[in-house]
Amino acid sequence: MPTDEQYHDGGCTCRYVRYRMTSSPMFVHCCHCRWCQRETGTAFALNALIESDRVQLLQGEVEIIDTPSNSGKGQKIARCPRCHIALWSHYAGAGEALSFIRVGTLDDPDRFPPDIHIFTDSKQPWVVLPPGIAAMPEFYKASEHWPQESLERRAALRAKSPQRQ
Ligand SMILES: [Zn+2]
Ligand SMILES: [Zn+2]
Repeated sequence: MPTDEQYHDGGCTCRYVRYRMTSSPMFVHCCHCRWCQRETGTAFALNALIESDRVQLLQGEVEIIDTPSNSGKGQKIARCPRCHIALWSHYAGAGEALSFIRVGTLDDPDRFPPDIHIFTDSKQPWVVLPPGIAAMPEFYKASEHWPQESLERRAALRAKSPQRQ
């Protein structure tokens, strides 16, 4: 039985939607692409990548909005149907088996700082990246940056949804 410390709860602004990550994420992206800048209205997006079967809806429901994406393949954004805050996204590739949780919607977002900065080619110039953390001009290979445990989790996820490889 996991302790409460292993749960990471979050929700929208009106508190209709409450969710729980039942473990830590595999990896955390800080994405500086123009698309994330526009979608957030800020300088970057902070996404915690986690298996969707480790995300539980505790309360409410989400509305899935088909949204264009940088890749051209689109993304599905899970939003609160009332206040429309974006809680997580699914992208083409792993599809709905993998959730990109918006770290800022967690009750304790400080727990998950970025593991990598991506698309730094379009980083806003005032954002100064900390030393000692990977920063990629565009995307990257998970095999070169993820910890072994996370790569094993990703492999297990792919084994469960082989049609998406
Ligand atoms: Zn809401
Ligand atoms: Zn982005």
